[in-house]
Amino acid sequence: MDRVSKWSAGVDETCVLCKNAAETRDHLFFKCSFSSQIWMDISHGILQGSYTTTWSALQVIVSDQRLEAKKLYCIRYAFQCAIHVIWRERNKRRHEEDPTMPRVLAKFIDKSIRNKLRLVTALGGKFTGILSYWFGSRDIG
Ligand SMILES: [Zn+2]
Repeated sequence: MDRVSKWSAGVDETCVLCKNAAETRDHLFFKCSFSSQIWMDISHGILQGSYTTTWSALQVIVSDQRLEAKKLYCIRYAFQCAIHVIWRERNKRRHEEDPTMPRVLAKFIDKSIRNKLRLVTALGGKFTGILSYWFGSRDIG
């Protein structure tokens, strides 16, 4: 929204998720109190000590080829799903549709990740056990 307001004066820049800050990319992903609840739920178990809500730091993590294949795959997919779901929720609210709670959205993301990992597990190789890796991260998260 900060980008839109540059060419369209008078547009409300306030974040529709928390109604408490200007909507910038860094705010939405994942400084926002709404988005950060979802991101925490989904990624804390995998990231643990390197958990962050900072966009630029996350860009570094999802591009880190030194990470274990399963971890890298999970965090990349979680990142992608979280962005997609939060953006969709943001658009829904801009169109005045009923809000969905962070817990519900996190559950939806978890389910999408499980479905994806079930397919990936079937490929075998470096992804063997990736679904149990994900479950394990959910337990410690
Ligand atoms: Zn917000």
